[in-house]
Amino acid sequence: MNYQPDSNRYESMIYNRVGSSGLKLPAVSLGLWHNFGDVDPFSVGRDIVFRAFDLGITHFDLANNYGPPPGSAEKNFGRIFKEDLKSYRDELVISSKAGYDMWPGPYGNWGSRKYLVASLDQSLQRLGLDYVDIFYHHRPDPDTPLEETMGALDHIVRQGKALYVGLSNYPADKTQTAIEILKNQGTPFIIHQPRYNMFDRWIEQGLTEVLKKNKIGCIVFSPLFQGLLTDKYLERIPENSRVAKSHGFLKKDHITEERTEKVRKLNEIAGSRNQSMAQLALAWVLRESVVSSVLVGASSVNQLEENVKTLDNLNFSNEELKRINQILS
Ligand code: NDP
Repeated sequence: MNYQPDSNRYESMIYNRVGSSGLKLPAVSLGLWHNFGDVDPFSVGRDIVFRAFDLGITHFDLANNYGPPPGSAEKNFGRIFKEDLKSYRDELVISSKAGYDMWPGPYGNWGSRKYLVASLDQSLQRLGLDYVDIFYHHRPDPDTPLEETMGALDHIVRQGKALYVGLSNYPADKTQTAIEILKNQGTPFIIHQPRYNMFDRWIEQGLTEVLKKNKIGCIVFSPLFQGLLTDKYLERIPENSRVAKSHGFLKKDHITEERTEKVRKLNEIAGSRNQSMAQLALAWVLRESVVSSVLVGASSVNQLEENVKTLDNLNFSNEELKRINQILS
C-alpha cells in the first residue's frame, strides 16, 4: 500500500482538551477491541484506520489482549503503522493497556509491577513503537496495593515508554485515592476510560464529579453498547453483526425486549433530529462536559463515517433531554 492521507484531515474534526493537560483528543476516537484481530479481514481494518485518519481521528486505542487471539490487534495495527503511517507518528495518539489475563502463570494478569512493565514491553514490540502516548491500567486489582500499581505506571513514564498514563474501569473512590498517589509521584495521569452509554450511566454516580474536581479527562468506551444503541437489532440479528459472531462480546441475551423497546422510542427522537440512532447515542454521550472523546468501534468504513457525522449536531434542547431521560428511566 502507498497511503496518502487526505490533506484536509484537520478541517472538520473537533479536538477537545483532556482535563487540564496539554493533550487534545478528537471528539471521536477509534477503538480496536473488535474487528482488528487475526479472525478479521486485515484489509477491512486497514481501510477503517486510513479513513479514520482522513477524517481527523488521530487517536487509536488498543490493549494487550485485543484480538482474538490476544495481541493480534496490536500486531495488525503495528503492521498498518509500519507500512503506511510511520511518517505520521507525531500526528498520532496511540494507547495501550494491561490489566486482564494475557499470559499463563501468576505474572500475566491484574496489577503487579512485574505484569505491567513486562506487558507494555510486549505491546511495544507488537506495535513496533518506542513508546505509547497513553498507557492504562485496564481494571482495578483488589489484591495488589494501589501504591505498587501506581508506582509501576510512574516507572513506565520515567522509562520513556509512555507519555501519559490513564486508569480504566476504576470506581470513583479508588480513582480519588489513585489521583492522590499519582499526584505525589508527579505522574502525568490525565485520563480515565470508563464505559458510558444510554444504558449504562454508572459514571454519573460519583466518578464524573471526581474527574471534574481533579481536572482529569475522560474518554468513554462502548458508547453504542457494542451496537445495541443503533437501529441494527430492531428487527433481527443481522449476519456478521457482533452478536452473530462467536467471538463477539455482545450476546443475544443483551438484546432484551425492554431495551429494544427503548431503542425504538429513542430512534424516533433521532429521526426528529435528522440523525441516525447511532448518532443520537454518540451525541448524547458527548453532551457530558467531562467527556473529551467517545471511543467508537466500527466493522466498516460506512459505520465510521456515520459515527463521525454525529459531530454535525451535538446540541440538545431541554425538552429532548427530558424525553430521553423518561425513556431511559
Ligand atoms: P461501540 O459501542 O461503539 O460498538 C461498536 C460496534 O457497534 C461496532 O463494532 C459495530 O458492530 C457497531 N456499530 C458501530 N457503529 C455503527 C453504526 N453506525 N451502525 C450500526 N452499527 C454500528 O464500541 P465498542 O464496544 O466497540 O468499544 C469501543 C472501544 O472502546 C473499543 O474498541 C476499545 O478501544 C474500548 N473499550 C475499552 C474497554 C475497557 O475496558 N477499557 C472495554 C471495551 C471497549 P458490528 O460488528 O455489529 O457491526
